[in-house]
Amino acid sequence: MRTELHSMEEAKQLLQKYYGYPDFREGQRKIVASVLSGVDTLGIMPTGGGKSICYQIPALLLPGLTLVISPLISLMKDQVDALLAAGVSAAYINSTLSGKEVNERIRAAKRGELKLLYVAPERLELDWFREEMKELTISMLAVDEAHCVSQWGHDFRTSYLAITPFVADLPRRPIVAAFTATATPEVMDDMTGLLKLKDPSVFVTGLGRDNLAMSVLRGENKREFVLNYAHTHGSQPGIVYAATRKDVDDLYERLRESGVPTGRYHAGLPDQEREENQEAFLYDDIRVMVATNAFGMGIDKSNVRYVIHYNMPKNMEAYVQEAGRAGRDGEPSECILLFSAQDIMTQKFLIEQNPQDEVRKHNEYRKLQQMIEYCYSTKCLRWGMLDYFGEEHDHSLCGICSNCRDERELVDVTTDAQIIFSCIHRMRERFGVALVSSVLKGSQNKKVLQYGFEQLSTYGMMRRRTEKEISELINVLIAEGYLSLSEGQYPVVKLAPLAIEVLKSKQQVMLRAPEPSQTAATGSSSTKRKGRNYDDGPSAVNETVFEQLRLIRRDLAEKERVPSYIIFNDATLREMSVVCPTSETDMLRIKGVGEVKFRKYGVPFLEFFQNME
Ligand code: ADP
Ligand code: ZN
Repeated sequence: MRTELHSMEEAKQLLQKYYGYPDFREGQRKIVASVLSGVDTLGIMPTGGGKSICYQIPALLLPGLTLVISPLISLMKDQVDALLAAGVSAAYINSTLSGKEVNERIRAAKRGELKLLYVAPERLELDWFREEMKELTISMLAVDEAHCVSQWGHDFRTSYLAITPFVADLPRRPIVAAFTATATPEVMDDMTGLLKLKDPSVFVTGLGRDNLAMSVLRGENKREFVLNYAHTHGSQPGIVYAATRKDVDDLYERLRESGVPTGRYHAGLPDQEREENQEAFLYDDIRVMVATNAFGMGIDKSNVRYVIHYNMPKNMEAYVQEAGRAGRDGEPSECILLFSAQDIMTQKFLIEQNPQDEVRKHNEYRKLQQMIEYCYSTKCLRWGMLDYFGEEHDHSLCGICSNCRDERELVDVTTDAQIIFSCIHRMRERFGVALVSSVLKGSQNKKVLQYGFEQLSTYGMMRRRTEKEISELINVLIAEGYLSLSEGQYPVVKLAPLAIEVLKSKQQVMLRAPEPSQTAATGSSSTKRKGRNYDDGPSAVNETVFEQLRLIRRDLAEKERVPSYIIFNDATLREMSVVCPTSETDMLRIKGVGEVKFRKYGVPFLEFFQNME
């Protein structure tokens, strides 16, 4: 095996040559180095983190073939198209091909003409296919979306279990590298265990992508918010996720009525319509996609500028995966979660609807609770996310999430907190948020009277507030770690050690001024937040030039029948519009312009700049 140092230098050269990027991202460098030193590797990276490069570059350096296990046909095709556009020899084998085509590709692999071969996991269950693979020199097996091997994950695929016996059966064991965006401990254990990774190096990186401005907005009039947002971001591609088909249909109609080119996607639509809508979105024929969570896996569109969650998703894994579809090209993008308490009910209902054993159900409730805490948290949302996934981070604020941008004053709510904590204590820490709120409100409801809670000294001590306001405050105190919730369908609030300190007056509680509750009339919580300051910088992007470059790209994309980002992504066009390269050398210095791509697609862009002078 070559020395790692030597290979990393070569790896960097290939990155420049084929992808036009001057350097690896931090996480990519570590993963590539690990793979090149021959070690099994588990790479956890969010969507858009740049996973594919982590195995594609080693594939170019290792002898023989890299076999990529990929779960989705559309994903495979996109990846192979992108590789071919960059000048890398790659192919895929899946059920869309005829037997003859499959054989041709296997023969090409045998002749050593392919560096990467993408296959669906189901292939590995076929005897004849396994036999064919034994005749190849397979240096690496890259498992994409590796969380599919775990029953704990949200996309379990039985055929992923065929990977390990397949590897064991090969005459020479390849390096096994597994990649996913899901990083919970159970799933990580399954990936290393079920894929039988040998003393793997594990890298969790890049979850906090600094081009994504995360927001959680509570108390918005959601529908108006989406309509307004889509209008003010008229020319930009975005995804709106809603929990139910009904909401998807409703939003879709309204957006279309208001003149926004919109598509929709959910499991209730005929296959063909779904496929057409997806294509239209990929090719920028429509701007906004309204969808349930059925949409997205395998969507390799890099210029999505925003992802709005119309409802809170069921857990952080799902959220990060869906929100991560924004800004894969590294350009500033927004992820907005519109939260309402009703979302909690919906998610609980969905858990109850889904027949599953008690252990899993319990697990889902626990994850839901963590998601809720994220929504109520007042600390930097990026920290919240990184802490959840166990990624190390320095404690500098991201500065662009809705909490970092929250300029409302900190107010001392110690007295309110003490009242709440003492009420919970008097109720013997045996009830949920709703009943505690009723008691504090001084409600006469049946349950309150049944337990004799109207006798408590804290009964009615917060009667000037609505029950909703009280329970919101309790939820914030939970998210801030003063209170804890038991797990399960009917969680019970308990005092955390921090609350005891507060009760003893050893600790103050400072929170942002409570948000005004939803006012249907204005439809917008008038919370005070700093605007995004991305645009304040000395950005010299010339919008007219940028738009013209997009038109050139669109023409090329139509001619070649590939999605436009395969040609060059938005980040690349933006850099061009700033630099205005008029020679081949200058053009090759733009990030995203590799040698092959320049030869294939570069000329019209170059001519544009030459004529501009
Ligand atoms: P993933 O598969 O993890 O979702 P991709 O491999 O599609 O992510 O990469 C996401 C985006 O980041 C792509 O537009 C890709 O070209 C870009 N990218 C990846 N690596 C680099 C890098 N080293 N420098 C600049 N851009 C990169
Ligand atoms: Zn932040």
